[in-house]
Amino acid sequence: MMKGDPKILTKKERDCLLAIYRDLESSGLPPRLTDVARAMGVRPPTALELIRRLMERGVVERRRGLIALSESGRREALNILAVHRALEVFFVGCGMSADEACSLAGQIDYIVESRLPPGNLLEALGNPTQCPHGYPIPGGSARG
Ligand SMILES: [Zn+2]
Repeated sequence: MMKGDPKILTKKERDCLLAIYRDLESSGLPPRLTDVARAMGVRPPTALELIRRLMERGVVERRRGLIALSESGRREALNILAVHRALEVFFVGCGMSADEACSLAGQIDYIVESRLPPGNLLEALGNPTQCPHGYPIPGGSARG
C-alpha cells in the first residue's frame, strides 16, 4: 500500500535525509559522502545509494561533489523533526522515558509526517515548543 505512494520515504532514506540535515545544521557546511556515511553508521557505497534515491525524489542535490538539500528537502527534514519531537512529547505524556519515546518516534515520524501536517499534531498536543530532550520543536515555517 505505502509502496505505491511516492511521497513516503523508507526508514533508511529518512535516516539519511536527517543525517544530512543535522550535519548542515551543526557545521553550517555541506556534508561530504563520508560524513553522511559516518553519521549513519553505514559504508560509503550504502550512503551513496541512499543519496541517489533522495536525489531522484528531488530532496537532495549534489553541487560540485558536495551534498545539499533542496528547498523541499529542507522542508521535509524540518517537518519530520517537528513530528518526531511532537510524538516524543505525546509518548512521554503516556509514561515513556524520553529515550524510549525518541526511539519509538524515530520508527514512525516519517510515516506520520507524510499523512499529517505537523501543525495539526502540535495543535492537538497544546502547541509544545520543546521535545523532552529540550530541543526546540520547529514551528512556523515548518508547519502546514
Ligand atoms: Zn528524538
